[in-house]
Amino acid sequence: MPIHDALVKRAAEALDACGATAAYGTDWTSRTPIDGAALVSGAGVGRDAVEEAVRAAHVAFLAWRTVPAPARGALVKRLGQLVESHKSALADLITLEVGKIRSEALGEVQEMIDVCDLAVGLSRQLEGRTMPSERPGHRLMETWHPAGVVAVISAFNFPAAVWAWNTTIALVCGDSVVWKPSELTPLTSLACSELMETAILEVGAPRDLHRLVLTDRESASVLLDDRRVAVVSATGSERMGAEIAPRIAARFGRAILELGGNNAAIVAPSADLDLAVRGIVFAAAGTAGQRCTSMRRVIVHRSKVDAVVGRLASSFQGLRVGDPFSPDTLVGPLINESAFDRMQDSLTRASALGGKLVTGGSRVDVAGAESFYVRPALVTMPRQADIVREETFAPLLYILAYDDLEEAIAIQNDVPQGLSSSIFTLDQREAEMFMSAAGSDCGIVNVNIGTSGAEIGGAFGGEKSSGGGRESGSDSWRGYMRRATNTINYSSALPLAQGVTFG
Ligand code: NAD
Repeated sequence: MPIHDALVKRAAEALDACGATAAYGTDWTSRTPIDGAALVSGAGVGRDAVEEAVRAAHVAFLAWRTVPAPARGALVKRLGQLVESHKSALADLITLEVGKIRSEALGEVQEMIDVCDLAVGLSRQLEGRTMPSERPGHRLMETWHPAGVVAVISAFNFPAAVWAWNTTIALVCGDSVVWKPSELTPLTSLACSELMETAILEVGAPRDLHRLVLTDRESASVLLDDRRVAVVSATGSERMGAEIAPRIAARFGRAILELGGNNAAIVAPSADLDLAVRGIVFAAAGTAGQRCTSMRRVIVHRSKVDAVVGRLASSFQGLRVGDPFSPDTLVGPLINESAFDRMQDSLTRASALGGKLVTGGSRVDVAGAESFYVRPALVTMPRQADIVREETFAPLLYILAYDDLEEAIAIQNDVPQGLSSSIFTLDQREAEMFMSAAGSDCGIVNVNIGTSGAEIGGAFGGEKSSGGGRESGSDSWRGYMRRATNTINYSSALPLAQGVTFG
């Protein structure tokens, strides 16, 4: 069977295994970056259907918000079981649509299962605080309530996990969800949505609690403007965040923004170089550099630059670039031609600013002219430069040198983004300094591991132009609820706060 036919068959089987079908149409086409050719086309929806989805999801919300949270957890528990039993099919769709290697695609599905577990536990722990009241016979407390419809806008590179992070937490918080996935990953979203629908039917939850809208950006703007959408949780580029944030703010809606990163590691003189090189290579070249937390910069103590560059170069050269379904492959394709062009453009601009290409950057012919495989690139930069301050969503790693830790931290922070960061050091003072108020300004600050591969138990997100949102673990759930402060007077007097007397 020709290679492309086998990919189309695999997509059809995986979709079928999840019980999903693509409605006949030509509004969208799912292409696989494995060979760049089309897998399936289907029907999308327009503005009216997005409006209808919000209306229906809002009606479902009005019922769901009164269901006790632990009972809401039962829905997410069932979803987790369904995701687990369809793990292989979902991972197939992720590899087909994103080009992620099989192990990372399975990891993404595992993350969905993990976040379902987290959300189920959370459904019994949506706690509020009680504070001492200054007035006798009074109680002061906070209660947390469902917020409304949550719109989830997701990026291509985590087509399933980002949806699961948001949807599972939103559902146990008592919200309903309207999901607008990336145009590049319609099949993965159809499969996830079908599993969600099955779980909803099986547990008897309101049918419209979750609505998928395969639509364009223009029609998706309904989600930004409609006041019934209490929270817009959007994952994607800084450009997207800059477009949508003012619109949501104009109606005082709440935005959870998870945007681009420009993540760096500092390699200190005391670093365990074996560990550092392994951590850096995975973070920089894994997922073909297409994670928001991918490492883009390494800031190395001047005394270690030659050693680090030499070891990274030989590791990069040894990485097998190829078919993401092959167990030997470590680096799959870029998502499309524009991603490749942007990487080449960054290499040209870096070179014009004195950057030296140590290795990589060239295209590898794996499956013909329509697919874009590339060797991970390593570039040494003589100094900080504008190109280094931009996120290039590809396996391109810049090396910069530093002389003292304060300077290294300043370089690390001298970018618009603030998502993830790490330091490789065996010196506790340096590690503590990096994590202190005068250290990294990122939302994720690691020691002796790379910048990518966060666990779901912690709050995930970044500062500055990375958006400021938090998702997944810790108390991120508060972003999906509204808070009420309650003062209860159980006395027969009516004392006023701050000693005020009135009549
Ligand atoms: P993108 O910005 O092109 O698209 C992301 C999503 O936003 C898509 O669903 C897209 O259709 C939608 N969108 C874009 N403009 C819109 C608009 N004006 N109105 C409504 N919807 C709009 O990003 P991408 O190429 O899919 O993903 C890569 C980017 O996402 C990178 O910058 C990466 O760092 C970032 N990302 C961030 C995180 C995080 O958690 N911080 C996670 C994954 C990806």
